[in-house]
Amino acid sequence: MSDCPGEYELRDIVHTVRYQGLVIVIDHVPAEVCTVCGDILFKPETVRRIEEIIRSRTAPSQLVPLYEYA
Ligand SMILES: [Zn+2]
Repeated sequence: MSDCPGEYELRDIVHTVRYQGLVIVIDHVPAEVCTVCGDILFKPETVRRIEEIIRSRTAPSQLVPLYEYA
């Protein structure tokens, strides 16, 4: 979608989303990551899984320290 010359490679990333005012962090999400600009692409089934996790409201496996920059 851009003129970036980078190539995408499969990596496990930490994905952070804000949902209904909550910050939700999901670790080890498989994603295609551009080696140059860091652009991230998810497969459709990964997006579905992420939405499932967010909506499931099951207890998280870990709590993450959250800091405010300001
Ligand atoms: Zn790129």
